[in-house]
Amino acid sequence: MTPDPSTLLGYSTVIFLLLGVHFILSEFSGRRWSRMAWYAAPFFLGAVSGLFSTVQSILPGQWGLRMSSLFMIMAYGAAWQAMRIILGYRTRVLPVLLACIVFFILSALSGRTGLFHVLSTAFRLAALAILHLLGIWNLRNADQITTPARRNLQRLLTLYAGFYLLLVALVLWLPAPLGAAPATIWAVATYNFLTVVEVTLFALGMIAIPWEQLAFRQKELILQDPLSGGGNRRAFQEWLENDGQNCAHEALLMVDIDHFKNINDLHGHAIGDQIIIAMGHVCRDLLYPTTTLFRIGGDEFVVVFQCGSIDEMLATAQRLRNTFSTETRLIGEEGITATLSIGAALCPGTGISRTDLLARADNALYAAKQTGRDRVVHFAQEEGNSLQSISDFSKPHL
Ligand code: GH3
Ligand code: MG
Repeated sequence: MTPDPSTLLGYSTVIFLLLGVHFILSEFSGRRWSRMAWYAAPFFLGAVSGLFSTVQSILPGQWGLRMSSLFMIMAYGAAWQAMRIILGYRTRVLPVLLACIVFFILSALSGRTGLFHVLSTAFRLAALAILHLLGIWNLRNADQITTPARRNLQRLLTLYAGFYLLLVALVLWLPAPLGAAPATIWAVATYNFLTVVEVTLFALGMIAIPWEQLAFRQKELILQDPLSGGGNRRAFQEWLENDGQNCAHEALLMVDIDHFKNINDLHGHAIGDQIIIAMGHVCRDLLYPTTTLFRIGGDEFVVVFQCGSIDEMLATAQRLRNTFSTETRLIGEEGITATLSIGAALCPGTGISRTDLLARADNALYAAKQTGRDRVVHFAQEEGNSLQSISDFSKPHL
């Protein structure tokens, strides 16, 4: 059975129209008119292009086809703008306008065959390939979170950029609208089918990306402690349960601010909050970029970092304790003496569950509190002996 090009083009025109209407309706309630126009434009321009090629008799001679191709370039240009808006960029209309003007001049000069016909066809295909490549460039470099839909859109555009580049290379031999040779029904049907697939997948990406970005942002907020900027108790629970739950080359510090209740009572809750904020700053500035901070209770924190030796772990813990005391002295007008008790545990070579590692650090913290506070105590495991022993190696910080 031979496909009927007019019917196919008619159907795809209706699909483009419906997608345009969808974006008008979905953006209408937000009353962001410019965004709504850019989101709907690619589909309405695509529908106009489809209309010109379905009913070529609207315009005399070759003009129906020329307008169809021109509106197709505009549609892809508008799609690039819509994608830029979703990714947080400004629109860039000038390159698209220039491409349209050059194509219009070339196609106005061209007949059904000949040099200008080949040139205008090659230019149309190259312009579409370049618009795809620009889209890929923006998707790769946008600051926003890379969501699964964004990755899928990048794959789709890469596939179609390759397809259009291939068409440019084969322009002399492929039948229109794939190339500059005389059109065949199958070429029209194939091109139409591939365009509908791309436009539909692109529209799905446009719908999915903002929702996925919102979901990622909300998840971040749900897992973040607003004062220290570290993970909250929920994030900590996820960390405990993740990654097969076994530790590997990790040091875990259980950190608790000493007499925090007294600080609150003496200096006020706002100053207490600033001390918690300072803990976040100290961890970010002082420790390795890979360090993870969780605030698991009011004044209780867990600090996790990659570490190979006990000496390194203890040196890091001491640095944290000293810097915290120095930094917090600057808070408030009266001068605060805030100190930390730290229980430290290093993941043994064989690896243990993160829950066990936490219990070891917790034991060490308990010992630090019991033996006078303002100190680092670490959980030491003697060779061949799984029984715990607690050793206090630090002197109180002055
Ligand atoms: P210790 O040396 O034994 O740890 O004594 P502590 O006073 O630090 O410990 P305790 O558990 O008795 O008190 C913790 C205090 O932390 C009680 C609570 O008012 C305070 N706290 C909890 N969350 C916040 C917060 O978000 N902001 C402030 N400013 N204080 C908080
Ligand atoms: Mg405390």
